[in-house]
Amino acid sequence: MRLSSFFLPTSRDDPAEAQIVSHRLMLRAGMIRQASAGIYSWLPLGFRALRNVERIVREEQDRAGCQEMLMPTIQSADLWRESGRYEGYGKEMLRIEDRHGRDMLYGPTNEEQITEIFRHYIKSYRELPKLLYHIQWKFRDEVRPRFGVMRGREFLMKDSYSFDLDYEGARRSYNKMFVAYLRTFARLGLRAIPMQADTGPIGGDLSHEFIILAGTGESEVFCHRALVEQDVLGDDVDYEADLAPEVARWTGHYAATDEKFDEAEAAALGDDLVRARGIEVGHIFYFGTKYSKAMNAAVRGPNDEEIFLEMGSYGIGVSRLVGAIVEASHDADGIVWPEAVAPFRVGLINLKAGDGDCDNACEEIYRTLERAGCATLVDDRALRAGAKFADMDLIGLPWQVIVGPRGIAGGSVELKRRDGGAREELSLESALARLTASPGAGGSATS
Ligand code: ATP
Ligand code: MG
Repeated sequence: MRLSSFFLPTSRDDPAEAQIVSHRLMLRAGMIRQASAGIYSWLPLGFRALRNVERIVREEQDRAGCQEMLMPTIQSADLWRESGRYEGYGKEMLRIEDRHGRDMLYGPTNEEQITEIFRHYIKSYRELPKLLYHIQWKFRDEVRPRFGVMRGREFLMKDSYSFDLDYEGARRSYNKMFVAYLRTFARLGLRAIPMQADTGPIGGDLSHEFIILAGTGESEVFCHRALVEQDVLGDDVDYEADLAPEVARWTGHYAATDEKFDEAEAAALGDDLVRARGIEVGHIFYFGTKYSKAMNAAVRGPNDEEIFLEMGSYGIGVSRLVGAIVEASHDADGIVWPEAVAPFRVGLINLKAGDGDCDNACEEIYRTLERAGCATLVDDRALRAGAKFADMDLIGLPWQVIVGPRGIAGGSVELKRRDGGAREELSLESALARLTASPGAGGSATS
C-alpha cells in the first residue's frame, strides 16, 4: 500500500477526550473515529488490526473444534421473554420497535438465540456434544462508555456456546475453551491470566475471566507469579485429550480480581504475589440448564428420557483486544505492534520521494516484499523526513526500512526494529532476505 493514496489521518495533537494511552494512540494513528459515545468507525489502519485479531481468535476456535456460524444483531424480544431476561436486563439493552409495533432489541449477547436454534434442530443425545460460535457486533448501553474501544457501547465479540448431555461433558467443553483462550491471547502477544469469577446462583467453579495486566486496567488483580511466567500449550495441543491437568496447572495457583480478593490467601504468597491492574479480555462460563430449562431445549436420551441441555458460553472482546494490545505494547513515540496483529509488517520510508534512485529502490523493495506475502506500507509522500519518521513510529509497524540517497548510492538501506529501536545498515539484498525469511512474514503468524 502506498501512503500517498492510503487513508491514514494521523495527528500530532493529543485528543482531549482520551484518558488512556491506547485511546489516544488509536485516535492519533487514525485507526478509529468516534461516531457517537462508545460507537466507533474503524478506519483502514485500525480495521486491518481488528481483522488480524479476529483471524487469530477464529483460527483457535476452529482448532478447538468450535464451528463458526453467524447470528443476527437484531433479536426478537419474545425470545428474551421466554428466558425471563427481557425485563431484568435493564437499561443496558437497546430496545427497538419495528413498524408493526413488535418489540425487538439489538443483541447484547446470544444465549437465547442459539438455544432457540438448537432446540429446533437437535433432538437426540447422539447429536451431542456441539460447540458453536460467531463473531458479531453487540450493543450494550453502558452507563459510562470510556477508554475508546475498550468499553464501547457497540463492540465486536466472539461468543461461543457449548451443548452437552451431562456435567462431565460440559466440563470437557469448558476445558477446551479454557485452553483455546490461553493460546489465543498468547498468539496475540498477550499474557492473559485466568481468574476465578462469580458463578452466581449456578454455583461451582466453572467461571473464569481472562485478564491481561496493564497499568490502566479497570480492576485490581492479584495472582501468583507462576501464572505470569508459565508457558501455554503449543500448536500440537490435542483437544480430544483430557485437558483437565492443563487447566489445573492454571487454576492451581492463586489468582483473583478485587471482587474475589482474599487478604489471607494473598498474603500467604509472600514474594510470589503479583499485584497489578488488569483488563478483562475474555470470560468463560458454565451455566448448566439455566436457559435450556427456561426455553425447553431438551433431547431424547438412550432410554427415550428427556434430558435438558447442559450449556456454557464463552466470550472474547475482539474490538476491546485491539485497545488492550496497544495498552500493553507502546512507547513514548507510539504503538509497538506485535507481529501477529500488525496492520502491515513493514513500513518502507522513502526519504527522498521524487529522486529516481530512491524511487526505484523503493519500488523494488515494495514489490519483493509484497510478493513474499509481507504486507508493506510505503511512505512515498513528499514530506520532510522528521514527519515521516514520526508517523511511522506512531503507527508502530514492526519493521521499518529506510531508503535515502546516500545509502542507496552504496547499495544499502537502514533496517529498524520498532520494538526497542535497534537499527542496522544492510545491503538491499540482506535486508530483503531478513524480512522475507523471519517468521510472521505476511503478518499472519502461525505461532
Ligand atoms: P465487563 O465486566 O468488562 O463489563 P462483561 O462481564 O459484561 O464485561 P461479558 O458479558 O463476559 O462481559 O462479555 C465477554 C467479553 O466481551 C468481555 O470479556 C469483554 O472482553 C468484552 N466486552 C464486554 N463488554 C464490553 C464493552 N462494553 N466494550 C468492549 N468489550 C466488551
Ligand atoms: Mg465478565
